[in-house]
Amino acid sequence: MKIMTLSAFIKEKAAVMKKNDDRKLDDDVLNIIQTVRREGDRALLNYTRQFDRVDLQTFTVTEEEMALAKQEITSEFLEALNGAKQQIIHFHKNQLEKSWFIEGEDGTLLGQKVTPLESAGVYIPGGKAAYPSTVLMNVLPAKIAGVKQIIMVTPPDEDGRIRSEVLVAAHIAGVDQIYKVGGAQAIAALAYGTETIQKVNKIVGPGNRYVARAKKWVYGDVAIDMIAGPSEVVIVADDTAPPHYVAADLLAQAEHDEDATAILITYSKKIALTVQKEVEKQLQLLERKAMINESLEKNGRIIVVDSLKEALQLVNKIAPEHLQLMIENPMEKLPLVKHAGAIFLGNDSPEALGDYYAGPNHTLPTSGTAVFSSPLGVYDFLKKSSVIYYSEAALNKSIDSIVTLAKAEGLTAHAKSIQVRRKENGKKK
Ligand code: NAD
Repeated sequence: MKIMTLSAFIKEKAAVMKKNDDRKLDDDVLNIIQTVRREGDRALLNYTRQFDRVDLQTFTVTEEEMALAKQEITSEFLEALNGAKQQIIHFHKNQLEKSWFIEGEDGTLLGQKVTPLESAGVYIPGGKAAYPSTVLMNVLPAKIAGVKQIIMVTPPDEDGRIRSEVLVAAHIAGVDQIYKVGGAQAIAALAYGTETIQKVNKIVGPGNRYVARAKKWVYGDVAIDMIAGPSEVVIVADDTAPPHYVAADLLAQAEHDEDATAILITYSKKIALTVQKEVEKQLQLLERKAMINESLEKNGRIIVVDSLKEALQLVNKIAPEHLQLMIENPMEKLPLVKHAGAIFLGNDSPEALGDYYAGPNHTLPTSGTAVFSSPLGVYDFLKKSSVIYYSEAALNKSIDSIVTLAKAEGLTAHAKSIQVRRKENGKKK
């Protein structure tokens, strides 16, 4: 991993931002979306043949496939999955929002009615790996919110199968339908519907650049959770952090894919050098060494700053998806962190704990969007309606103000609809 100063890092970032040109990606994705809208299931089968290299007759997962998946998984896996499920439910239950009402003078009632979405589509990435943890993280909040219809889509492998671990996770999370379709075509199917796949109210879940771009294009016709980019971790470490822990956590992050970002920010030159050596040493023993190497080469950086204050200022500028504070008394520094998707405190709270097990969601804002957005949660599957009740007496008291405002906007029919209700001495005027 490269060690660099803060100013060198800022210069490098600015150069990368100028290079991004996504015109071709937009053209490809729009073409896929339009074809799915026009041709429905036929387009899905064709794209699955083209991109996933498998000729499917149908993309519905059958009961026999689910039964086989249940036989194939180990009891250790099932136990771990159920443990994670309990933790995720335990955490997310606290996010449920209730309807509320306030009573005013003259019997007025104002409130907010909370209603779950009727349907949600969950994209689970396939391609390079299987992500049963992502199934739990995306489906369970929808279940807790009370969504009645949860549809999961995920690309099949070249044998036309979905990994047993993913199918079983879908089963224990309570998914209603599972379809073998991935990429931009799956997003288009969830957004507009096909002969087989029902259109949903909201699409959630991470995916590669085709999936992310398709979500951006269908937004407005359907709700989406966020546009997820490649995964990131920023670790802030001082001399109290064990270098072999820091190195292991940076390597774990770089393992996600070649575009993942792993950054260490430290004000200790000693930590910078020992972590750099430790990363080299541990890397040699890892299974996904080639991919990790590529990711670290591209986006792995050790940045040496002057102080903790400067480190946290940089954190707030980057607004990372994951932040690990491996420093003395991390809890005390929490108020200084403004922008991060998830904040892991201390040497024994690595990102992998949150990825799988602790309970908070692992679908988090990436690419600096933590400045304005939040982790996926139960609130993503709830919507609100305002409730307004005025009694005759209460309305009568407000008539003049409403009429004045309506006339100021030139909306005289609005004013009339209020005036027609005017009462004087208890009688209609
Ligand atoms: P994916 O399911 O997102 O994408 C596979 C699909 O991409 C294929 O089915 C195909 O339809 C489409 N595709 C591939 N090449 C194409 C092309 N040339 N043109 C059009 N479409 C094409 O799986 P993936 O590619 O492995 O990516 C998964 C991503 O999700 C990774 O970046 C991973 O890090 C990320 N991820 C994020 C989280 C999270 O919580 N943030 C969790 C798990 C995975």
